[in-house]
Parts: sequence; C-alpha cells; structure tokens
Amino acid sequence: MLGTVVAVQANFYQVRLDWVNPQLLIPNPQYLLCTRRTRLKKIGQKVMVGDRVLVRSASEGRGAIAEVLPRKTELQRPPVANAGQILLVFALEEPALDAWQLSRFLVKAESTALDLCLCLNKTDLVPQGQQQQWQKRLREWGYQPVMISVATGRGLEQLICHLNEKITILAGPSGVGKSSLINKLIPAVNLRVAEVSGKLSRGRHTTRHVELFELPGSGLLADTPGFNQPDLDCDPASVALYFPEARQRLEAGKCQFSNCLHRDEPNCVVRGDWERYEHYLKFLEEAIARSWAIKQMPDRESSLKLKIKSAGRHFLEPKLESKKYRRHSRRERHQTLQECVRHQTLQELYEEVEDL
Ligand code: GDP
Ligand code: ZN
Repeated sequence: MLGTVVAVQANFYQVRLDWVNPQLLIPNPQYLLCTRRTRLKKIGQKVMVGDRVLVRSASEGRGAIAEVLPRKTELQRPPVANAGQILLVFALEEPALDAWQLSRFLVKAESTALDLCLCLNKTDLVPQGQQQQWQKRLREWGYQPVMISVATGRGLEQLICHLNEKITILAGPSGVGKSSLINKLIPAVNLRVAEVSGKLSRGRHTTRHVELFELPGSGLLADTPGFNQPDLDCDPASVALYFPEARQRLEAGKCQFSNCLHRDEPNCVVRGDWERYEHYLKFLEEAIARSWAIKQMPDRESSLKLKIKSAGRHFLEPKLESKKYRRHSRRERHQTLQECVRHQTLQELYEEVEDL
C-alpha cells in the first residue's frame, strides 16, 4: 500500500493511505500507525513527515514502512519531505507589517527553492487605501500577496485554491493569525489561539513535532516549528538570487565580473534604485561576516565542514575520515557548535547536537 507520512512521533509513523483497505478493522482505516522495517533502520533510511512510503504487512491495525520513495524536495528545518510550497503569512496590523522582518522571511523562504505564496492577513483592521499601497509595494518586490481576513473570511477561498493537492509549509511570525487560519481551514484541529498581547504560543514552536493537517481539497498543511525565527545563513554569492528584483536584473543583463557581489563593483547590473537594495546589502554583510567567521575557526573546528543543503540553511557535518565519522566528545561537539551557530537559539543548538 502506498501512503504519505503525516506525523512522526518517536519510532511511530502515522501514514495516510492513498487507498483505503476495507479489510482493515480499525476505526479510521485511512490512517495506519506504522513502524519502520528493520532493513530501513540498518541502512539508516530516515522517514520524514511528507514522505511517500510503501507500507507492508498491515495486521491488527499496524503497518511497517518497507520503502521510502525518492523525495522531490527535502527540508531539514522544519524536517519535511516533498513540500511543494511555503505559505508565508503576515498581518497588516497587530502586529504592524514590518518591511525588514517581511524581507527576512521572504529571503529565507526563497533560499529553500520551494514555491512561495505570500498572504497578508487582518485586512479587516486596515483601510482599503493602505492595503493597496502594500500590494503595490510588494508587487515591486516581485510578489503578489493574497489578501485575507481570517476574522471575516475574506480571501480564504482564493487561498484554498493555492493549497490544493500539495504539501504546504506554513510560516510567519507570531501573532499574525496562523493558528486562527488553521482553525478556520480545518475545524477539527483545535490549536490554541494566542492573544497578541498575552504570552505568545512559544510552546508550539519549541518542539520538533511536525504534523501534516489535511485540508479540504486534498492538500496537506505543515504547521511547523523551526521556520518562525528565520536565521539567514546563505553564502554571500547566493544572496542576490533570493531577491526577485535582483534576479530580474540578472536575467536582463550581466555584471562585468562573474563573481560580482553587487556592491561597488564597476558595471554592475544589480546595484541600483530599487527599494530593497538596502536590505540586500544588509543580508550580504551578514553572509560575509558569517563566512569569514567560519574561515577563522581553528583546525579542530574546520574539520567540521559547512554544507549548504537545498533547504538553504547550513548544518555542520563531520568530514569523512577513513570512511568513519570522526567522533568528538559530546562536550567538544557542543562547544564547536556553539561557536559556529552562536546566533541560533539554545533549543536549536541542542537539536543540532542531537542530529550529529
Ligand atoms: P499565530 O501566533 O500566528 O498562530 O496567531 P494566532 O492565530 O494565535 O492569532 C493572534 C491573534 O490575532 C488572535 O487574537 C486572533 O484572534 C487574531 N486574529 C487572527 N486573524 C485575525 C483577523 O483576520 N483579523 C483580526 N482582527 N484578528 C485576527
Ligand atoms: Zn553586480
């Protein structure tokens, strides 16, 4: 049987089957709780939420995952396979839309190479004129935001059309209405809706638990931790590629130098009069500082090589030495990581150590 992994908890996998087997005598035969076949464990095959899997030997309402089909996409943080797009939600007010914060999320989302759908919520709080100004401004950035109000229902049908038949990763800062949106789209789940003024729902964002919720129209939505405080950690040369404005300029023309960073080099086609050029320079500065810091690491640390995954974030992976991972003591590894990923939250740091 083929299915999609919709939740992972400890060593159990909840699989939504493509085809319901009427012989399975369990309350909800569409979903099957599975373990991973020993063979998969032996070859170190991880199973992620979003994975398409082959399930065998289903008996007594249990199955075993025998095979993981090749992934179309793979994100490390949040750990989701086969995601088709990111749905980035911001609010126009409460909290007020902040161009720099939005830019940060956009650039982070662009770095995953997944499609991106930008959605502006709480239109009920802002006059029409102001909404149009934002729409115009964002069009100049290269985005066509879907304007919604979870409170009044405006734009939700249009939004649902964007979510059909694929896996979407929901992202955005706290308080913009992500939980409210999920509650509206999927009434069965009852996520806690936090007050902007009260304690924000940190709890939801600190676990590694990722779950896919089924949307009307057969899409799946991942409400995930890990994408809500984006840390930008791309290499300097890639930064421009995460700005549609820069991409467009690079498609239309060519900089004199192939390794142009678009700062003060002569005959640069990217440098110019576009609103987010200043943002670009800030992100570039961050990326340069980071790559410089990594180069400065003493030898011991440099045996940890930086790897940029398609997810666009780097994680540290020990270099292979005589076909064996060089092992550091837990404490050593922890210290190394701390030096390298100082900007990450402690929680993320521990997770990084766990991964190693
Ligand atoms: P999250 O942190 O992104 O999950 O945001 P929540 O869903 O917890 O929402 C934060 C607050 O915004 C709650 O008080 C919601 O009732 C409120 N909210 C959500 N959507 C809307 C909307 O469309 N309009 C207005 N006025 N308030 C909203
Ligand atoms: Zn240039």
